[in-house]
Amino acid sequence: MSFPVLDRRLLMDRSVSGRVGVSLPPLDVPEQPLPDAAMLRDDLPLPEVSQGEVVRYFTTLSQMNFSVDTNYYPLGSCTMKYNPKINDEAAQLPGFARIHPLQPESTVQGALKLAHSLQGFLAEISGMDAAGLATMAGAQGELAGMLMIRAYHLSRNDTGRRTVLVPDSAHGTNPASAAMCGYRVMSIPSDSQGNMDLEALRNACNSETAGLMLTLPNTLGLFDVNITEICRAVHEAGGLVYGDGANMNALLGHAKLGHLGFDVLHINLHKTFSTPHGGGGPGSGPVCCNAKLAPFLTAPIVESVAEPDGGESFRLATPEMSIGKAGAFHGNFGMLVRAYTYIRGLGAPGLREISESAVIGANYVLSALRDHYHLPYDRPCMHEVVFSARTQKARGVSALDVAKRLIDYGIHPPTMYFPLIVEEALMVEPTETESRETLDNFIEVMKEIARQAEEEPQVLKDAPHYTPNSRLDEARAARRPDLRWRPAEG
Ligand SMILES: *Cc1c(COP(=O)(O)O)cnc(C)c1O
Repeated sequence: MSFPVLDRRLLMDRSVSGRVGVSLPPLDVPEQPLPDAAMLRDDLPLPEVSQGEVVRYFTTLSQMNFSVDTNYYPLGSCTMKYNPKINDEAAQLPGFARIHPLQPESTVQGALKLAHSLQGFLAEISGMDAAGLATMAGAQGELAGMLMIRAYHLSRNDTGRRTVLVPDSAHGTNPASAAMCGYRVMSIPSDSQGNMDLEALRNACNSETAGLMLTLPNTLGLFDVNITEICRAVHEAGGLVYGDGANMNALLGHAKLGHLGFDVLHINLHKTFSTPHGGGGPGSGPVCCNAKLAPFLTAPIVESVAEPDGGESFRLATPEMSIGKAGAFHGNFGMLVRAYTYIRGLGAPGLREISESAVIGANYVLSALRDHYHLPYDRPCMHEVVFSARTQKARGVSALDVAKRLIDYGIHPPTMYFPLIVEEALMVEPTETESRETLDNFIEVMKEIARQAEEEPQVLKDAPHYTPNSRLDEARAARRPDLRWRPAEG
C-alpha cells in the first residue's frame, strides 16, 4: 500500500515575506487614489506565495477528498456509482448551460423538448402516467408527493384523513416529509423476514389513513413479497401509496412501481440517473404519479402542443390543481440533461442490465461475506445487502470500527447504523459499475477486518491509520468547526 505524503501546511504557513505570485505589467493609466485611505491596511496577514505554491496547496487539498472517481464507494442507499463523463459534457453544451430561465419559450424549444421527453421516460420507467421535474432533492420530492396526496383527499372533501403509515425500516426523510404535511406518523413494524408486518398494516388502516410511504426494495435491500397486498389494504381504506423511489437501481427494466399499486413516487436522478452527488448538492428528485394525482403535480411541467402545420412545440404549464412551485424556476436543469443523456445512451436494454448487474453484485457480496458477518435477514437481496457487526461487537469492535478500518484499505465505509432496526448495521451497495476484481478486493478486505476483530481488535479501534486525520470528534466538528487561520501564539 502506498499513500501520498501530503504537505499539509496551510497557505499562511507557506507564506514568505516579499514573495509574489504574479508579475503585473507597468502601470499605463493614471494612478487613482483610494476613495477612503483609512480602508487601506498593511497589518492584514495575507499569504505571500508563488503561483506554484498556490497550485500545490489547492491540489493537495483536493487529494484529501475521497471520491467515487478515485476509490470504491459502497455507501448503501446512496448509489455511489460511476457516472459517464459524457453526461457532464452534454450538460455543459452552451445551448443548455447558458440559457436563462426567463428566456421566451420560443427560444428554448430544445431544452423544453428535452424536459418533456424526460418526463415521458421517467413515467414509463416507473409505470406512471405523468411526471414533474421541478423538485430538487429526494426529500423535496417526498414533500411534494405527500402534499399531492393531501390535496387529492381535500379536493374530494375527504377531510378526516390525518395519519400516514411508515414502516420502521423507512429512510428518515419519510416520516419527516409526512410530518411536514401536518400528518400524524404511525410506524408499522417489520416481520422476521424483513417484510412489512401485513397484519399490523391491516389493523392500522382505517378511515383516518391518508396513505402509506414505502420504499421498494426496502431499506434492508429486500423486495417485500406482499407488496400488492400492502397496496390493496391501503387502497381499500381509501388511502394512497407513496413510493420512495430514491434508489431505482434494483428495479430498472424489471418492475414498475406504478404496476405494483403505487400512486405517486419520487426518483433521485442524483442516485440512479447519473448526476454525481455528495457534499450536499445539486440534486433532482422528479415526482411521477398516476392519472388520479397528475392534476396536483408541482409547477411547471412541460406540455407538448400540436401545431397547425402538423409539427409540435413545447410550453411550460401549471397543472390544473397544482400544489404550487417547488423552487424559483424549473428545477436543476443540468441534472435533467445528464439523466436524459444517460437514459438515451443506455436505451431500454442498457437500463435493464443496470439492475441485473446491481442485484448480482450485491448477492455476490452477500454470499461471500455471510460466514464472516451476521446476516440479519437470511434471504437473497436486491441492489444492496445489510450486514450486522453484532458478532464483532461482542468482542468490543463496532460497526464504526469496521467502517473506519476500511478507509485504511482505500475503501469508503458502507452506510452505518441504518436501517435503525438492524443493530450495528453495515449497509453495502456495490452498484453495477464495479468490476468483479473490485468486489473481490472488498470481500478480501472485509474478511481480513473480521480476522483482525478477533485477533487484534485494537488495530480497528485506532483506525484509520493512514489518513491526514484519524478519528474526529464528529459532533464538535459539526457544531464548532475551526475554519479560520490564526497566527501562532507569541
Ligand atoms: C437518499 C434517499 C432519500 C433522500 O434523498 P435526498 O436527495 O438526499 O433528499 C430518501 N429515501 C431514500 C431511501 C434514500 O436513499
